[in-house]
Amino acid sequence: MAATALAATAPKKNLYENVLERFDRAADLIKLDPNIRVILANSNNELKVNFPVKLDSGKVEVFKGYRIQHNNALGPYKGGLRFHPAVNTDEVRALAAWMTWKTAIAGIPYGGAKGGIQFDPFNYSDSELERITRRFTFALGDNIGPEYDIPAPDVNTNAQIMAWILDTYLSTMPPHERQRCTHVVTGKPILSGGSEGREKATGQGVVNLIELWARDHDFAVNTSTYFVQGYGNVGSWVARLLEPKGAVLVAVEDASCAITNPNGLDAQALTKHVEATGAIKGFAGNYSEVDHATFMSTQADFFIPAALEGQITAETAPDLNVKVVFEAANGPTDPDGGRILRERGIDVLPDILCNSGGVIVSYFEWLQNKRSEFWELEKVDGKLLAKLSHAYDNVRAAAGEFDCDWRTAAYVVALRHLERVYKERGIFP
Ligand code: GLU
Repeated sequence: MAATALAATAPKKNLYENVLERFDRAADLIKLDPNIRVILANSNNELKVNFPVKLDSGKVEVFKGYRIQHNNALGPYKGGLRFHPAVNTDEVRALAAWMTWKTAIAGIPYGGAKGGIQFDPFNYSDSELERITRRFTFALGDNIGPEYDIPAPDVNTNAQIMAWILDTYLSTMPPHERQRCTHVVTGKPILSGGSEGREKATGQGVVNLIELWARDHDFAVNTSTYFVQGYGNVGSWVARLLEPKGAVLVAVEDASCAITNPNGLDAQALTKHVEATGAIKGFAGNYSEVDHATFMSTQADFFIPAALEGQITAETAPDLNVKVVFEAANGPTDPDGGRILRERGIDVLPDILCNSGGVIVSYFEWLQNKRSEFWELEKVDGKLLAKLSHAYDNVRAAAGEFDCDWRTAAYVVALRHLERVYKERGIFP
């Protein structure tokens, strides 16, 4: 089988092998058709572009950009673009596959893709960032498109970056085609065709799922404590939305440092500080600074990893001191870490369900663009909750049916959906 063959030939265990390990477990459980299994274990297209950009100094630097399109059986490829030094083929391949499962679970008509540029955006000026983004978009050319592959924000990218991608893409279209292509990218600024509620959507979705989980577990959110890793768009929105509900944020970590206060950190004030300075370091609040190991062992009701992959591992999982983990990041738990959490009876709401609010509201933005509509926030929030509740119920039902953990159950929901579609359509020719 391709899944195992791929794993066996790779030199050492990498992120994509983690994806395949989980994929194999669920595929075995539902006895997934071997022909469909071999398709889904591979990405459809893998694009890597080296493109030159003139820096402010006049020097030219060549950047490495990626777009990997994992699968489009359910609809156009969909997924974010990240700007980070750790972006590489293996990481993007894993993230693209996760998008395929995520959109299938969410019940939205998209496939899965992911991309990015391998660089640290914090080392470049705004005008350099604009030129890097535009030149990357130009290099991608027809490999993206409003009905073909639709990028969105991810780690270190935001609405402004999406506006530059939109403008560059439209500028390369014949004039009479431009107005019908605004859905080439989602997560845009509202005036440029973005949707109400998209900026907070991933965080909003995590909070909705926390409340659904709480309802099923007789858990009181309003007296709970939690800690967050990563204070970018997702982490900070989760904290801002949980604050009025009474949940107490007891620790936060980002790349600059980790801070803790058992009586609670001010999520709004911390957001303002991070927006102004780019990091939590130097926040003028009441807290003590702690090291990473102390942060990971913070005592609280739940933990929200909202940064990068591979944070809950064989090393850190034994020290986690919580009842449940809500995975706002993609891939924060590796298979060893996941096994330890299971043995310790710590629940995990897996990334491909837990952080799907972002892509769900991307879908709403895409629909609004196609129909030239603008929906009110209440409508967007209501439709998001309806989609998430449905996905949550399906994953819970699969966990009961197969007596398995929720991650495996989420894969089961995705793979069954994809299998049905492949069976209906068959394989060309
Ligand atoms: N980057 C987000 C994710 O990982 C959103 C993707 C999208 O909206 O297309 O789900």
